[in-house]
Amino acid sequence: VIRCRAAVAWAPGKLSVEEVEVAPPKAGEVRIKIVATGICHTDEHGLKGSLPNMEFPFIPGHEGAGIVESIGEGVTAVKPGDKVIPLCIPQCGECSFCRNPESNFCQKSHFSEPQNLLPDKTSRFSCKGKQIHHFLWVSTFAEYTVVPEYTVAKIDAAAPLDKVCLFGCGFSTGYGAAINTAKVKPGSTCAVFGLGGVGLSIVMGCKAAGASRIIAVDINKDKFTKAKELGATDCINPRDFQKPIQEVLTEMTGQGVDYSFEAIGNKDTMIAALASCNMSTGVCVMVGVLDSGSEISIDPTLLLIGRTWKGSALGGIVLKEAL
Ligand code: NAD
Ligand code: ZN
Repeated sequence: VIRCRAAVAWAPGKLSVEEVEVAPPKAGEVRIKIVATGICHTDEHGLKGSLPNMEFPFIPGHEGAGIVESIGEGVTAVKPGDKVIPLCIPQCGECSFCRNPESNFCQKSHFSEPQNLLPDKTSRFSCKGKQIHHFLWVSTFAEYTVVPEYTVAKIDAAAPLDKVCLFGCGFSTGYGAAINTAKVKPGSTCAVFGLGGVGLSIVMGCKAAGASRIIAVDINKDKFTKAKELGATDCINPRDFQKPIQEVLTEMTGQGVDYSFEAIGNKDTMIAALASCNMSTGVCVMVGVLDSGSEISIDPTLLLIGRTWKGSALGGIVLKEAL
């Protein structure tokens, strides 16, 4: 057992750094020394208790990078000393989704099994005699974490862990949403709602795909400098306009953009993003996360002429293959 520090979420909104015990990896598991972790808004959703199958107390964090400390019986994919990124979407390699090159989802994931415990329904974390739950099976806000073997990607030994941790969620999610999910074409127009880590990565993906116009939308104008540096051609604040932002975007582009992205996690901006892409060939990709159990209602006429509305998890990327 390793004793180390971790940020423990005890109850909604209540996070504190504690000394925790991390049990050794069981068969088919890997214990990782986490060297760097990012913070993604999905951690915040977890901390609010608004994700499905969540139980407090748990250790958040899902955008980390580290070094394998020890391996359980039968593990062959990695060995102690390897640099790795824990995957918040696993890749068992065997289920029908994993075998389908068009899917990046795995049926052996925490979406189909309780995400608070490892697949054998037990936890490797405890604190003050209490069992602490896992989060998305990765829990990177701990100095050491234990994950199933099929939820790690081995990375290059020279990779700087404080930078590549962003591949674990934010960067892959945004960049992949533009490249894989929307399949942005050269010369096209794009609108990106929300300029956090995810939205800025969408801007980078649109630019890399050759978009000619990338309109960045955020209510925080402090985000605009970075967005422009990364490729945004226009930056607009919905609060500067009297009319709905979808009307502003439609006027700016004639018919609406070719591709729109929602990277906020808000019902109204999801509908605004959908209405901002053109009614015939427009594609809207929903990346933001709403509270579990939320419902959204739209006028179906929005889709009648041919608009496409899609979701994207981790940018449609199979990280184990991409890294
Ligand atoms: P973030 O909090 O860093 O950024 C959100 C941005 O949205 C901020 O810049 C904020 O100013 C802006 N914003 C808030 N309300 C707005 C409004 N009404 N209009 C315009 N802009 C507004 O978040 P993030 O870490 O970049 O994550 C964004 C969303 O993506 C979250 O909902 C997160 O849970 C989700 N997410 C999804 C996936 C996935 O795989 N689908 C992966 C990671 C994150
Ligand atoms: Zn995330």
